[in-house]
Amino acid sequence: NSDLILYVNLELVNKKSDRRYVIKEMLGQGTFGQVAKCWDVETNTYVAVKVIKNQPAFYQQAIMEVSLLSMLNEKFDPDDQHNIVRMLDFFLYQNHLCIAFEMLGHNLYELLKRNSLRGLQLKYVQTFSRQILDALVVMKNAGIIHCDLKPENILITPNVKTAAGVKVIDFGSACMEGKTIYSYIQSRYYRSPEVLLGYPYTTAIDMWSFGCIVAELYIGLPLFPGASEYDVLCRMIEILGGQPPDDLLREAKNTARFFKHVGSIYRSNEAQNAPVSAYRILTGEEVEARESKKPKVGRWYFPRGRLDRLIFTYPWKNLNGENLPETEKTDCLALVDFLRGLVEFDPNKRWSP
Ligand code: ATP
Ligand code: MG
Ligand code: MG
Repeated sequence: NSDLILYVNLELVNKKSDRRYVIKEMLGQGTFGQVAKCWDVETNTYVAVKVIKNQPAFYQQAIMEVSLLSMLNEKFDPDDQHNIVRMLDFFLYQNHLCIAFEMLGHNLYELLKRNSLRGLQLKYVQTFSRQILDALVVMKNAGIIHCDLKPENILITPNVKTAAGVKVIDFGSACMEGKTIYSYIQSRYYRSPEVLLGYPYTTAIDMWSFGCIVAELYIGLPLFPGASEYDVLCRMIEILGGQPPDDLLREAKNTARFFKHVGSIYRSNEAQNAPVSAYRILTGEEVEARESKKPKVGRWYFPRGRLDRLIFTYPWKNLNGENLPETEKTDCLALVDFLRGLVEFDPNKRWSP
């Protein structure tokens, strides 16, 4: 990988900008820079060019994006069969690192918004899930953790007649498994328990985010839309009806920010069958006292309630969950079972792609 990074840097030095891309409109912006729809005068096609902010930290991370994506594209998915965005070019322009990608369509968050956040039909949830999983298998085989899987980073593939399709984009936060550097990663709603708690992480964190995305595609709203990390954790505990396992809590660096060690007597009164734990989640007041500031707990707007209830009563078309037709009931049960494997607190028990 360090060879790759060296190669990318050398390529950049050797390339001179040749006014190949003509900016047509802005497509979006993120933390790292802006993305523009451009006309490629060499191939006569539209491409999406990500212009990285010209600050060293962003530059370094974008070099990583180029390196990991070229490895994924060329070595692990040479025939473009696994729903990972294709990188077409990269160059320096006025001190900005720029990356050209194939032009894709709207992202899944925009799709949900256009659908009034009511969620997609199960058949689309299934199609998209299968395709994202296909990408995750390739990433796992390559030992790459995406670290920022969320609806904004999954794009619809345009014009493929009637067949709906998606691709995973934005490897700007990605890293190699076993060479993890950063502890503050993933977007909050999609942040895995091990990252929240400060525990060594693997490709399993992408599977957590993936589970959050699948649920969101179906119900139309984020599963754990916490206003703070503490709020996210509270929502996980409420929705999943349990808490992270004790051995994770014992070894994680940030446990004391969220949990109180109460010895070996604590049993959540919510779940009668939950195993006895040595930890309980802090109350809002305790968090406030500890941080001597108001906790960003936020409103508990929906979705609220247990996972199965969320799936059976959302989207709103299923509002009267008890009266679902039998086939849809079976589908919902299967979806809850699937989600249980993904939004599993224990990274070792969580399903792999
Ligand atoms: P983040 O804040 O998630 O880290 P970022 O700065 O890394 O974002 P990207 O996620 O790569 O940037 O791109 C930002 C947005 O631009 C995307 O969410 C998407 O809407 C749009 N976009 C990116 N790549 C493409 C593409 N190939 N085709 C069409 N639109 C794109
Ligand atoms: Mg992004
Ligand atoms: Mg990014």
